[in-house]
Amino acid sequence: MPLKPSKYNFFYRTGSGGAVLFNSSSGAALAMDRPATGAVVALLQQPERFDLDGSNFLRVRELLASRAFLVPEDLDETDVVRKRHKARQAENRGLALTVAVTKACNFRCVYCYQDHPEDQMNKATAETLLRFAAARLSQGTALYVTWFGGEPLLNMDIIEFLGARLRELCQARNCAYDAFMITNGYRLTPPMLERLLRLGISDFQITLDGDQKDHDRQRPLANGHGTYGIVMRNLVAAAAKASSINVRINLTRRNVDGAAALVERLRELQKAAPAVSISLGRVDQCSAHCGLGPDDLLEGAEFSHWEETLLGPNAAGEPAALPIPFDTVCVAERLNTYVVGPGGDLYKCWNSLGRPEDLIGTLDGSVCEETSAWMRFEASDDDQCGTCKYLPVCQGGCPDTQIRSDRQTKDCTKLRYTLKRRLIDWAGTKAERAKPERRFC
Ligand code: SF4
Ligand code: SF4
Repeated sequence: MPLKPSKYNFFYRTGSGGAVLFNSSSGAALAMDRPATGAVVALLQQPERFDLDGSNFLRVRELLASRAFLVPEDLDETDVVRKRHKARQAENRGLALTVAVTKACNFRCVYCYQDHPEDQMNKATAETLLRFAAARLSQGTALYVTWFGGEPLLNMDIIEFLGARLRELCQARNCAYDAFMITNGYRLTPPMLERLLRLGISDFQITLDGDQKDHDRQRPLANGHGTYGIVMRNLVAAAAKASSINVRINLTRRNVDGAAALVERLRELQKAAPAVSISLGRVDQCSAHCGLGPDDLLEGAEFSHWEETLLGPNAAGEPAALPIPFDTVCVAERLNTYVVGPGGDLYKCWNSLGRPEDLIGTLDGSVCEETSAWMRFEASDDDQCGTCKYLPVCQGGCPDTQIRSDRQTKDCTKLRYTLKRRLIDWAGTKAERAKPERRFC
């Protein structure tokens, strides 16, 4: 079978005549010294001239083909990526529920995209949600619950009611139960944490936006008072008991200095509490409720620069790691995943809460999941993404960004700015592959 070089190959010189080769579709990488680089370059240029220099070339050619650096001449590689995406979308690995138990929030963050009516999930809706989950959770699979809001801890009674029963359902069906909470941390006091741990909720995301000055400016209480002191105190106490706490710092041009001070503080905390991790979120768009202007928002390359500056060259905290190809970006693109509003309204995407145009059904009515824009989203349909070498390690980024902007705006992977450096670092250390990073919207 005649071979051609893969369109998803990335090749970078590493110095001393060596090089690194990476394929974004297979995730394979090769670190090469000077002689190997010569052979590989010759084969990538002329895969069919392997006979020129003897059997060594044959072995190298086989190696390149086995790792998809060389692929059959008639292979449509974009179609392979597309088929993997479709297959992953249709796979049922369990039921994923993002449950917004309330839309209310005690904070008024300047960039928040939600409005905050006092809607709370009540017991009747929670019971309907239990029946909905029971109808969709297959024996021996898994239930993934993200407790969400508004601020979920403003409706703890319903979390306790639902959380206990969802766990019982999992036990009865021999299903794994994975619970995660996104909270602003203000009410995550030690007694509250104990109640959550009893419910099996021990993984959290808490947002802090810098030192006290920056955080209090970006994330004040509804009455305008600061929140940093209480959130930090709760975080320090929770860090010793939770399984994981991801501290997310939402970055804008207004808080990069405060973010640096916070990272320093958190690095100290991590020494005693390895459960704490740090991630940066890019505030990239504002709704009608947003108090920031376009001049406050970081461009993709700028954000990537600050991420590397603040968190170091390997932002995920891993040693030099290879990127891993993946088939879908987030739960919104997968079957049997739902965002549940406090009134029992159903959506696919976390950003859709409160957008009637995004409704896909209700807990006690019909559900049109498969025809939603998120399930139909296919990054490779777009001219730019379809011809992009990063497609298998990006998948078009956040689908909501493209859907909302009619493909005019893209949430391009930060690998566009960091891949070369990461691969060269990897070639230096030959580190093992990192785990995929969890996406926090
Ligand atoms: S979103 Fe950007 S980086 Fe990602 S596949 Fe599309 S064009 Fe490429
Ligand atoms: S905001 Fe984007 S990444 Fe998050 S759930 Fe919606 S589509 Fe997915």
